[in-house]
Amino acid sequence: MQILFLIASIVLVFMVVRLMLKTPDVPRPEHPAKLRQKTSGKMLRCHYCGLHIPEEESLWEGGKPFCSESHRDLALSQESTRE
Ligand SMILES: [Zn+2]
Repeated sequence: MQILFLIASIVLVFMVVRLMLKTPDVPRPEHPAKLRQKTSGKMLRCHYCGLHIPEEESLWEGGKPFCSESHRDLALSQESTRE
């Protein structure tokens, strides 16, 4: 009976070691930034909110990039009220 216990403990130790050595082999999803930068990859900073946007998605007004039409309009209205 003792030999059975010995074999069982060896198998148990083997399984524990295997579990500890096992590295997670879950496939990593592609980095979102990698997928986005398929064109020029150049990022611009919205003049109004500071959000980083791809160059081809930016809106230019008065030599400044904006992330959206609403931010362009907001920045323009702020500049006009300042004067
Ligand atoms: Zn913005």
